[in-house]
Amino acid sequence: MRIVVVGGGPGGYSAAFEAARLGAEAVLVERDRLGGTCLNWGCVPTKAILRSAHAVLDSRNAAALGLAGAPLSVNLAALEGRTRGVMDELRGQLEATARRLKVSVVRGEGRLTGPRTVEVRSGGGRDTLEADAVIVATGSVPLRLPNIDHGLDGVWTSDDAVSLKDVPERIVIIGGGVIGLEFACAYAAFGSAVTVVELTEQVLPGMDKRVARTIQQALEAHGVQFRLEDAVESVERGQGGLRATLRSGAGLDADVVLSAVGRVPATAGIGLEEVGIEFDRRAVKVDERFMTNVGGIFAIGDAIGGMMLAHVAEAEGRAAARNAVAWYEAAHAGTQPAFETVRYDCIPACVYTFPNVATVGKTREAAAAQGVETVQAIAKFTGNARALAEGEPEGFVQVVAEKGSGLLVGCQIVGPFAVEIVHEAAVAIRQGLSVASIGHAVHAHPTVSETLMLACEDAAAKVRSGR
Ligand SMILES: Cc1cc2nc3c(=O)[nH]c(=O)nc-3n(C[C@H](O)[C@H](O)[C@H](O)COP(=O)(O)OP(=O)(O)OC[C@H]3O[C@@H](n4cnc5c(N)ncnc54)[C@H](O)[C@@H]3O)c2cc1C
Repeated sequence: MRIVVVGGGPGGYSAAFEAARLGAEAVLVERDRLGGTCLNWGCVPTKAILRSAHAVLDSRNAAALGLAGAPLSVNLAALEGRTRGVMDELRGQLEATARRLKVSVVRGEGRLTGPRTVEVRSGGGRDTLEADAVIVATGSVPLRLPNIDHGLDGVWTSDDAVSLKDVPERIVIIGGGVIGLEFACAYAAFGSAVTVVELTEQVLPGMDKRVARTIQQALEAHGVQFRLEDAVESVERGQGGLRATLRSGAGLDADVVLSAVGRVPATAGIGLEEVGIEFDRRAVKVDERFMTNVGGIFAIGDAIGGMMLAHVAEAEGRAAARNAVAWYEAAHAGTQPAFETVRYDCIPACVYTFPNVATVGKTREAAAAQGVETVQAIAKFTGNARALAEGEPEGFVQVVAEKGSGLLVGCQIVGPFAVEIVHEAAVAIRQGLSVASIGHAVHAHPTVSETLMLACEDAAAKVRSGR
């Protein structure tokens, strides 16, 4: 069986690798660099940049850590070199895995010319690949607001911001979501005066309000300014640089305006409409097996919308590859295939700000909206030995458990290493564990995970007392 995957990001390469592991002939078509947005423009470069930003903040805090010496400042060329090095290393490993699994990587622009044919154009040439199943994994591109002139010098998307072109003196970031806040953190540490303009009443829209308030206050302490419930209406170039005019009537002067208002599926112009595939706005419509309305064509990752995260794309990619193989084999055997899907109720969402934010499962409000009665408990990092030793005692762990059963249904964390410790909660939700079982498990001392344990102990006591 031959599976052609269009798009070599985390969704696409995971699908191709899984297909090859299952014995299929896997072909991966990529027009740019293997690793997609995640490795080349997203997750990986931003985290390498934030690592250096954290070092700058540590150096500013040196006296409090019992150290002496001038604060560090950023060396853009060196930082760009280091970031590129991290990306090259990871890309090299992907290429090695593709070779080991005998996945053919075809360079060029893929386009469906029929339900089982993908045309690949590169240079002046074109080639046609025949497939038994196709997986569309073309990802997403930054959303460009129609009222913002992206042709203006200094108007950036995240692609420019990770390219480390400059550390502007003044930067206005449109959007207080995950991407906006991570760049706010990095550029504030590097010395920019940062203002974040957010349309809704809170940063990280959709996340727990206490979490949002806490991270906003922490970023304000780093010098970031916020304008909530406001929007950038227009950006113009004047004598002193750019001027962003806000809906409220205020004007903000800036050297750079970074638009971080979200991403849209990259699904246009690749032959999907022509073969009859249905869309939900620009996202490819799929069923829970990740199959489109056209049999044998699957789609995954940012291209199908939903939770636009690398680990979601990977999970969907692996599931789609298994489903494609099962679908093909069952069709030939005349049997009904067994399908698998992805459980979206226990997927962690992480923000790598200082401090980190990480959430999984439901907030109490979301549970109530679904008719689930819950108890909630909070433990702060102020009493945690590891957090104090790290000099990062701000934040808390909040857990949400079902009343009666005590099953963990959600966890929201702001604080040190939140993006690491959230997985304990993710596994617990997935496996149907109670807060009592986490609270009873011995956690090593001193670790920030002890705060999760304490929150669970408190929640378990509330479950027992029926409060
Ligand atoms: C600044 C930023 C930071 C981020 N940080 C995180 C994070 O910390 N954690 C996280 O989970 N997610 C993060 N994300 C989101 C994450 O990058 C995406 O969710 C993830 O990359 C989606 O994977 P994908 O495989 O669906 O698509 P992509 O990674 O976008 O890959 C799609 C690939 O398809 C290729 N392609 C497109 N069309 C064609 C075609 N016609 N022919 C051939 N190739 C084609 C593209 O070149 C690309 O390589 C971040 C995103 C950004 C922008």
